[in-house]
Amino acid sequence: MATESFGFQAEISQLLDLIINTFYSNKEIFLRELISNASDALDKIRYASLTDPEALKTEPELFIRITPDKENKVLSIRDTGIGMTKADLVNNLGTIAKSGTKAFMEALSSGADISMIGQFGVGFYSGYLVAERVQVITKHNDDEQYIWESAAGGTFTITLDTVNPPLGRGTEVRLFLKEDQLDYLEEKKIKEIVKKHSEFISYPIQLVVTKEVEVEVEDEEEAKEEEDGEKSKIEEVEDDEDDKGKGKKTKKVKEKKVENEELNKTKPIWTRNPQDITPEEYASFYKSLTNDWEEHLAVKHFSVEGQLEFKAILFVPKRAPFDLFETKKKRNNIKLYVRRVFIMDDCEDLIPEYLNFVKGIVDSEDLPLNISRETLQQNKILKVIRKNIVKKCMDMFTEIAEDKDNFAKFYEAFGKNLKLGIHEDSQNRSKLAEFLRFFSTKSLEEQTSLKDYITRMPEIQKSIYYLTGESLTSIKNSPFLEVLKKKGFEVLLLVDPIDEYAVSQLKEFEGKKLVSVSKEGLELEETEEEKAAREQEAKDFEELCKTVKDALGDKVEKVVISNRITDSPCVLVTGQFGWSSNMERIMKAQALRDSSMSSYMASKKTLELNPHNPIIKELKKKVAEDKADKSVRDLTFLLFETALLVSGFVLDEPTGFAKRIHRMISLGLDVDEEAEEAPEATKMDEDMPPLEGGAGSALEEID
Ligand code: ADP
Ligand code: MG
Repeated sequence: MATESFGFQAEISQLLDLIINTFYSNKEIFLRELISNASDALDKIRYASLTDPEALKTEPELFIRITPDKENKVLSIRDTGIGMTKADLVNNLGTIAKSGTKAFMEALSSGADISMIGQFGVGFYSGYLVAERVQVITKHNDDEQYIWESAAGGTFTITLDTVNPPLGRGTEVRLFLKEDQLDYLEEKKIKEIVKKHSEFISYPIQLVVTKEVEVEVEDEEEAKEEEDGEKSKIEEVEDDEDDKGKGKKTKKVKEKKVENEELNKTKPIWTRNPQDITPEEYASFYKSLTNDWEEHLAVKHFSVEGQLEFKAILFVPKRAPFDLFETKKKRNNIKLYVRRVFIMDDCEDLIPEYLNFVKGIVDSEDLPLNISRETLQQNKILKVIRKNIVKKCMDMFTEIAEDKDNFAKFYEAFGKNLKLGIHEDSQNRSKLAEFLRFFSTKSLEEQTSLKDYITRMPEIQKSIYYLTGESLTSIKNSPFLEVLKKKGFEVLLLVDPIDEYAVSQLKEFEGKKLVSVSKEGLELEETEEEKAAREQEAKDFEELCKTVKDALGDKVEKVVISNRITDSPCVLVTGQFGWSSNMERIMKAQALRDSSMSSYMASKKTLELNPHNPIIKELKKKVAEDKADKSVRDLTFLLFETALLVSGFVLDEPTGFAKRIHRMISLGLDVDEEAEEAPEATKMDEDMPPLEGGAGSALEEID
């Protein structure tokens, strides 16, 4: 009987230490975690049996059984689920850390509660809250029966099981309780915990109870009693009636009898009438469904009847899980049942990806019981169910929106999902758009809806204007807003990276076009006079525009007179269909992107000059006097570079820009550049190794 030893993966070992050594009183949650694992394992074997009915033969009954063994101080939780092979034991219980292991420890150190363990996918280890040693005896259909055992301390062992009775199939977790945790062997306590945390588990949870029952036995001889005495404690009970009545002497004795008592007999909550279900019951069901430690934010319980019949309960959690956007993670979103029989967890085809934060169950009357993941995709019934679910989700969000505070919480947690939905779900795009909230030039403290924005639009305004950028601070005073502010047009300030994707997909809301104020071709609603004046200015500044364009070369596509700035000298706008400066920033941040794409999409920039700005007016004069003036070129570059910055772009050559600025400063301070530069360079030499080619070249004049 060879025993193999393994070391726990370092993070898991650390986690175990934490669990064992942290003072924490609410230890009872370990039972919820182990029952939840048992239930998952039962789900898996039931699902496997849909395609392979033989799978259940090794143990046809599906149940969870809790056995308190006071004599040995062992609490055992047994299931007839899928079990684990030896390889499963090695991988799942100790050598492969999940992302949740670290995340959970971080959460703990920033004040999270141990009871949150289940959400991080490391619930099994909560057994060590109450046990000094844990054994896992398990039998999978594809392997022998094994014993996994560990008293923490960095290692665990796996042994081929030749000592325990065969399980048939499934897993038994044996907790060797710490001396001060023996309470968990008490029937009353176990019942209480199961009722509190695991009432809605859809497999029978049996508690092995020892009952004293009265049985009537013939009282023939006193001597006989002694023989029986061994079997159980017998107490003689006086039985008056019998004594008086018949001649035959009987007596009642108390005998210990072992029984399986089912603890979760309530019928599935979704089959009940919503009017009879209390908020507490929904909360309790939600918690057992999701392992969440908090209550849900919203719930929708409904049934659909007619050509197709199903019942469903959908929940919106209070916050996003720590790994909401981690791809490829299996998550228990919507559980699918067919006529009360569990079919599968995480049925992707029931709900679109962007709604992956909605939890719940669907119980269909129409689907076949032996439906598999593969056939689900093609299934027409499922498509109809899906459509209904999405619609009910929208209803649920609308209900959340009726309470401002709740909606703010919801939007904070799942706003990104809604925006993804706008991008992906063309059918519900306009409905989803109603839930969008943005900051704006007229609402910097609180986000506003598009509907409210429209109510504030002046009559002349026809479009909804927006500006995208990195943060509110960086764009709330952007030059792009100047004319719009002056005209009293509100501009939405979009600062979430995903906003631009969503808005460019949305294109319009309630018949109003969504227009970026930092892109080319901004057609602001203007009066006839305004229009005439602008056309005249374009003519007057034609020569300046041409000179500036010649100086900048292909750094810009065009140089034109602007209709969107009133104060700043100039801004850079991007092509209508190319990336905005914000998008360019986001794309550059997504490293390793194909650079050919960026040079294609990184937009052609148009420099817009403000004809009313004194600098531009002065520059125009200078150009009229002498086009070839060297300072014109220098100033043009400075204007271009500052425009890059205020328009949200990144400078390609920051040193060139810095030098031009330094020259300006020198000019302002009346510093003789030639004289001052040399000693500065020697000083640098003391701190830094000389630059290749000597310090001189680094300070070369740039044109
Ligand atoms: P989670 O349940 O979130 O996956 P746990 O730490 O609770 O995380 O369990 C780790 C893994 O151990 C499970 O994913 C499963 O593969 C395995 N496991 C735990 N308990 C059982 C059980 N009773 N039957 C079969 N497998 C189990
Ligand atoms: Mg678990």
